[in-house]
Amino acid sequence: MQTPAKPVNAYTSICCYCGVGCGVIVKKEKNGSITVEGNKDYPVNKGMLCSKGLNLHYTVNDKTDRLLYPQMRYNKSMPLQRVTWDAALERTAAVFKTFIDKYGPDSVAFYASGQCLTEEYYVVNKLIKGFIGSNNIDTNSRLCMSSAVAAYKLALGEDTVPLCYDDIELADCFFVTGANPAWCHPILWRRVEAHKAANPNVKIIVVDPRATDTCSVADLHLQINPGTDITLNHAIGRLLIENGDIDIDFIRNHAEGFAAYSELVFKRTLTEASQICGVSESDIQLAATYIGEAKGFITMWTMGLNQSSIGVNKNLSLINLNLITGHIGKPGSGPLSLTGQPNAMGGREVGGLSNLLPAHRDLKNPLHREEVQKFWKSKPINPLPGLTATEMFEALESGKLKAIWIMCTNPLTSLPNVRQAEQALKKAKFVVVQEISNKPETLAYADVILPAAAWAEKEGTMTNSERRISYLNKVTEPPGEALPDAEIICRFAQKMGYKGFDFKDAAAIYAEHVKLTAHTNIEATGVTYEVLKEQKSIQWPFKKRNRTVGTPRLFTDKKFYTPSGKAIIHAVPDALNSELPDADYPFVLTTGRIRDQWHTMSKTGKVNKLNKHLSESFVEVNPHDAVALQINDGDVMVVRSRRGEVQIKAKVTSTIKQGVLFIPMHWGKLLGNDLHRVNNLTNDVLDPISKEPDFKYCAVNIQKYEKP
Ligand code: SF4
Repeated sequence: MQTPAKPVNAYTSICCYCGVGCGVIVKKEKNGSITVEGNKDYPVNKGMLCSKGLNLHYTVNDKTDRLLYPQMRYNKSMPLQRVTWDAALERTAAVFKTFIDKYGPDSVAFYASGQCLTEEYYVVNKLIKGFIGSNNIDTNSRLCMSSAVAAYKLALGEDTVPLCYDDIELADCFFVTGANPAWCHPILWRRVEAHKAANPNVKIIVVDPRATDTCSVADLHLQINPGTDITLNHAIGRLLIENGDIDIDFIRNHAEGFAAYSELVFKRTLTEASQICGVSESDIQLAATYIGEAKGFITMWTMGLNQSSIGVNKNLSLINLNLITGHIGKPGSGPLSLTGQPNAMGGREVGGLSNLLPAHRDLKNPLHREEVQKFWKSKPINPLPGLTATEMFEALESGKLKAIWIMCTNPLTSLPNVRQAEQALKKAKFVVVQEISNKPETLAYADVILPAAAWAEKEGTMTNSERRISYLNKVTEPPGEALPDAEIICRFAQKMGYKGFDFKDAAAIYAEHVKLTAHTNIEATGVTYEVLKEQKSIQWPFKKRNRTVGTPRLFTDKKFYTPSGKAIIHAVPDALNSELPDADYPFVLTTGRIRDQWHTMSKTGKVNKLNKHLSESFVEVNPHDAVALQINDGDVMVVRSRRGEVQIKAKVTSTIKQGVLFIPMHWGKLLGNDLHRVNNLTNDVLDPISKEPDFKYCAVNIQKYEKP
């Protein structure tokens, strides 16, 4: 199924890091190495790339850490040995069949990634839901934006981003909350900065317990107490109502739920809200004034809202601000969830989470299940949702789940309460790891290792944060015997004896996927590899009968995808159910990303230039707390929670709020120990709807490290 690399030396592709989805030109040099530059013709970035994108080629050219051939062992006490692809996949199929026969289809699971291509997501989802008969597929997108997905569905009737990046240049107020796009979505943020520089009246409000680089261009920084986002959003909502800065026509004719919302937000006074949030009344008033005066108003958010035990409600409280002001479905307005990963959206298009079906069909809907089953010519689809990311590891630990197949992700750095996840993998009966690199900690637990092709070594598609589908060219061959992820899954499915996985190439997988989108809200039947190569990218919906343009902006007719056709304003409570600080654990810990690293550093960590930015992990401590604890900048600290500890250097900085600590998420096991890994500390409590973990809030204590 491999497609030979093309005989020309310049190829278009998309950066494989964040959900901004910048276009790149990849050039293949005579010696076989590649170089990367920004694609000036690509509408997202117009030639710009951030530090991570500019260094993409190093991760491909440096093959010293690559997995080159399949490896396997017959029992846990044996060393892994090199085997053929056939041997590895036949044994894996035999083990999976044994478990499925003995314990049922829910005894196996796949844990994938928002970095997989859409085609890869499609085949693995088809395999487990249609043919194995379980919905046990989830991805690290569960850790990233599942709260936004649930909130979009509840408020708008569909998991869809209503606006596009070109709305940035049409907006005059930005409300950026729980996000640091200057570091985490840099090229999108450059567009906001450039727009403000050209239009000084544009207002930027940033809400964050940390004073990040994003705040440097803000007109107003609301440095709230962690976890108080809903209270703040409600307070702003109340002021907008009081000031008459709401869109009565939109609320009357195109929305539901305003009366209950209004009643709720008036239950808290501004003074109460100010005290809970830890920001001044006048600053909250100023935020409401900026929003009230805006003709185009964009809300932007990411993990600060999503990664919370009340993540869905935080999202809904924010989307409410767009709805009550009518700032949706018109130029320069709308709620813009900033996707963390490059293809989290593409993954959801094909149903790649444990509660979804392809083309955003509903697993609970019997008609939807039947449609998909008939299309796939598969067995009946199980109506019960499968295990989500953290639930899979709990099920491994309890023994309910026997086998897990981990592809393109490194859960032993990225899961919350990760030491427990490590215990779970130790207990797992059978672990398959499909990976490009020999670094991830999961490999130590693998019974079978399958070497995968990396970015630029395979073709496929991705969808970015603004619903833009783009084609990624294959530029170079994968090293050794590594194969594209989709091909690995299809070969395995055939070893299992399943029909419908003999795709000629990636384009055939894509063609099957888009057929399934017909007559859905995300219809992409007009999209083919040829169309993508010709037009470079297309925003869905894009129907076959309307082949000329995609859809940059949704809801321009004010018709939403809810049963009533109206958007729903949700009156959500602001109570926090996180692990609160107490006498033993008096600080709140929050986590996040740094500018030059990506996720668990298996790619960016091997680029010297990127490591120079911040070369080791750290804990941010407010100077007042540092004085009280007699901490100096650079002291080695021990930070403990009820789940574990880390030992890292203190970074004393007034950018963090008093009583709050911040540690980056990227570092895993270094030099054989795990004492830089912040997820030793984090809590695995979940949002009850989205099942997204509470990475942004748990109780910890901190003290200077003393030699034992
Ligand atoms: Fe890549 Fe995101 Fe940087 Fe663009 S902004 S170059 S997509 S990491």
